[in-house]
Amino acid sequence: MTLKVTKFGGSSVSCASQFEKVKNIVLSDPDRRFVVVSAPGKRNSSDSKITDLLYLLDAHRQYHVDASNVFKLIKERFTEIKESLGLNYPVERELDEMYARLQTMTQNEIVSRGEYFCARLMAEYLGYPFVDAADVIRINHDKSIDWDATRARLRAVMNTTSRFVFPGFYGLSSNDKIMVFSRGGGDITGSILANIFDADVYENWTDVSGFLMADPRVVKNPEPITHITYSELRELSYMGASVLHEEAVFPVKESNIPIHILNTNRPHDAGTIIQETSNVPRKYPITGLAGKPGFLSIYIYKKHMSNEIGYMRKVLSVLERFNVSIEHIPSGIDSFTVIVSKAEVDDSLYEILHAIKKEVHADEIKVQEHIALVSTVGNSMSHQPGMAGRLFEALGRERINIQMIAQDSNEINITIAVDEKDLSRTISVIYEEFVHPDDSQIRPVEVEPFIEVVNVALETE
Ligand code: ASP
Repeated sequence: MTLKVTKFGGSSVSCASQFEKVKNIVLSDPDRRFVVVSAPGKRNSSDSKITDLLYLLDAHRQYHVDASNVFKLIKERFTEIKESLGLNYPVERELDEMYARLQTMTQNEIVSRGEYFCARLMAEYLGYPFVDAADVIRINHDKSIDWDATRARLRAVMNTTSRFVFPGFYGLSSNDKIMVFSRGGGDITGSILANIFDADVYENWTDVSGFLMADPRVVKNPEPITHITYSELRELSYMGASVLHEEAVFPVKESNIPIHILNTNRPHDAGTIIQETSNVPRKYPITGLAGKPGFLSIYIYKKHMSNEIGYMRKVLSVLERFNVSIEHIPSGIDSFTVIVSKAEVDDSLYEILHAIKKEVHADEIKVQEHIALVSTVGNSMSHQPGMAGRLFEALGRERINIQMIAQDSNEINITIAVDEKDLSRTISVIYEEFVHPDDSQIRPVEVEPFIEVVNVALETE
């Protein structure tokens, strides 16, 4: 029998009609025995998430401001779900009790209640037992998971039931207080359970049918991504394509459990399967592409820099001192350029430039703003001659100037810098170049992982 951990995000449980969709999905497949839920999310674009309302409730409490209106909104949302579905769980009474002891509660406990009450109602609605995350998930002081304790608690639960509904987003700290993950952390809960159960798949149900090859605001009707590896996803998410909480990837990646992103509102769509390794033939030579504006470059030139050991380190240590993270460092013989996010240096750019000048006595420092980065990502690009050539030729034909090029030896990502005004056109041109029916039979090339190649070389020395 297949074991699935099935997690539903906030939009999938936002109201009674969404609960009905969840029930149809869960009951349509007997393998869906372990269900994790978020707190009810927005029902429409002007609505509020329950978790946001709970944070607001806590802010009112902290500043001793009357919170009754916020509380009323929260109670109405849960009551609507309960009454529309004809459930018995005394959610109004429980909420009133919580409100009465609000002053004694911590922020973490207050904001965790969205998931708690949602899971209570969902458990009754599905006819599944409710298991509280506070009885299972143990979180260390540094917010890492206490895997041994969590595993032991989950095993104990499994002696009493073979199915359950479980609230996402929180667990219990080592001093027995409720502790929440960062926002969107319900995804992490599902991933932890999938790891411990060694699930066959971790289903993550949301309100989109997985990932698309490009941003639909830029490319008309982009193709869906049906399969993607974790590293490809990481490259694309870094550039802004986000559906899943970043940290949710690690517990399942470790055991190569696939994550299947699915749409609660269109349950028959194929969705996207994320997996460490995948032998499924890819339709196109690229998996996807994403771009982001808002970068600037700092160009540093020093005569005979190439003879001076430690020059680059000194410049980078200035940026480290100012807590600036570095995106890329394309380099020449006596010059190099550091690309950083403009927002990160906005307040301190002149101080940084001054410090660099002082530290390394550069002959020339130039700053260029309005840079956009575009990453073209795909495992199939690796060890495939001509990919970069095609990409650059297509952009050249369209008279798009490339300001910088970066590709590491993994070869799964070519990142280029262009002027911000060319961002959308760059994405469209690359998309059209590669997402083309002629390429439909390209298979991923089997390549030894880079690190192993290094090991072999070392052993023969
Ligand atoms: N309810 C939490 C949030 O809104 C966690 C989640 O939805 O995954 O951030």
